[in-house]
Amino acid sequence: MQASTQYSGKVVLVTGGTRGIGRGIALAFLAQGATVIVCGRHAPPEAITSGASEAVFFRADVRDTEQMADLCASIALRFGRLDVLINNAGGSPQVAAADASPRFSAAIINLNLIAPLNLAQSAHALMDLQDEGGVIVFIGSVSALRPSPGTAAYGAAKAGVLNLVRSLAVEWAPKVRVVAVSPGMVLTEESHQHYGDADGLAAVGATIPMGRLAQPDEIATACLFMASGAAAYATGNNLVLDGGGERPAFLAAAATVTNGVGRKSGAVKRGLQVAGDLPA
Ligand code: NAD
Repeated sequence: MQASTQYSGKVVLVTGGTRGIGRGIALAFLAQGATVIVCGRHAPPEAITSGASEAVFFRADVRDTEQMADLCASIALRFGRLDVLINNAGGSPQVAAADASPRFSAAIINLNLIAPLNLAQSAHALMDLQDEGGVIVFIGSVSALRPSPGTAAYGAAKAGVLNLVRSLAVEWAPKVRVVAVSPGMVLTEESHQHYGDADGLAAVGATIPMGRLAQPDEIATACLFMASGAAAYATGNNLVLDGGGERPAFLAAAATVTNGVGRKSGAVKRGLQVAGDLPA
């Protein structure tokens, strides 16, 4: 079989590319012929490889502006260019908003909003020097688009990312495109910590119209597209990949309600009930 070469000759940096969604993205770009650099605070347990290609690992914390400047300088020196930045590193533990300390909230905003902004600035400085420019992809989240109870600061930071993407896109067009890819729930090594064992994951998956969590390679495919020439006119845009999102909770409640004369509620009569979705 012929090797894929869509990204042959391109240099791609994936922050937090050592596991989870970032690892899936790194593997996808490797498989398409790119030179891939991943950064993280800890080396991956095993090399990230696709065929004969291996991602280059840099130990670096995205919140440390000096380490990020060193990383970009090293990329320029060693590879001579940077074509794609995937601002992926991020996340948050669950903490009730009433209990979150100011230090905790600031750290979450820093990791998910400020650090990606600072790195985007450094990446833009390199990309702006290249005739072909470059593409910066921010990994967002559906938490930006709906309430985010338990991770309020995270949801706010991810909402900030979407506005940031639009502003940077305007400032840096046409040479550097800036886009977001916003996943819903994705199955990673860490998913069990949030959703429990296989039964828990299946129960959570059943709440999604597609009936399951996304796989990292499905988010990676969206990144391959958004960073490619096929998306050359996309900048400032947000590609949401949420398997159809969340069913409105009121439908489940409405299905159990009668209208006082023994008839089913309007929502059910209007055919909004999804087969298997609501109690009989
Ligand atoms: P993960 O925790 O499995 O992996 C995160 C990666 O980022 C790891 O490699 C980690 O080492 C790295 N990282 C964390 N802090 C870092 C730092 N300070 N410096 C350098 N690297 C750091 O997370 P994930 O679930 O794969 O999430 C990746 C991205 O996708 C995040 O931005 C997250 O907000 C977003 N996201 C995830 C989901 C999901 O369901 N997993 C859903 C929506 C959005």
